[in-house]
Amino acid sequence: MRIILMGPPGAGKGTQAELLVEHFQIPHISTGDIFRAAIKDQTPLGLKAKEYMDAGALVPDEVTIGIVEERLKKEDCQKGFLLDGFPRTVAQADALTKILESLNMTLNGVVNIELENEELLQRLTGRRVCRKCGSTYHVVFNPPQNQNVCDKCGGELYQRSDDTLATAQNRLNVYHEQTQPLIAYYEKRNLLKRERGDQEIKQVFHEILNVLE
Ligand SMILES: [Zn+2]
Repeated sequence: MRIILMGPPGAGKGTQAELLVEHFQIPHISTGDIFRAAIKDQTPLGLKAKEYMDAGALVPDEVTIGIVEERLKKEDCQKGFLLDGFPRTVAQADALTKILESLNMTLNGVVNIELENEELLQRLTGRRVCRKCGSTYHVVFNPPQNQNVCDKCGGELYQRSDDTLATAQNRLNVYHEQTQPLIAYYEKRNLLKRERGDQEIKQVFHEILNVLE
């Protein structure tokens, strides 16, 4: 099973990714993880990526694509994979299409978990974190017993700076701008599977399985 999983921050992509890799027993390939691995293994591309990252610069497409290609050639990708956070641009998507062709692989689907902005903002801004133990809560979906107090350790709960309304709004704008052309790219190739994220986690998961089969 070869899947690309997309979705805005707050749509539950991480949870669905975990369920999918467990169900299909496939590797979860996120760009962050494979960058870290390539740097740790000191592969030529990993070292190149590190140079850019150390300089605080964006890693260029050719390096990112090379690192993804190396990862997809590994043994454990024979039975499939879930790509998360890649591709991010149409240029990367094009490169991926070529890589997969050269490896004789086809995608089963590009799953896009969709949710209204309003709902995403509610989810993103409702998160609270314990200062002491790091436990996370949500004011609507997983509230603590006492407001702003951690159930586990009694520590004070706070809102992280990237969970404030302005930051969340900005993250969503950037995401949508970046992703729109990708969605069109995969729609044109009949690979896009739209999935509504405003349902129970299990329901979303079963629907994703249905559209992939
Ligand atoms: Zn705590």
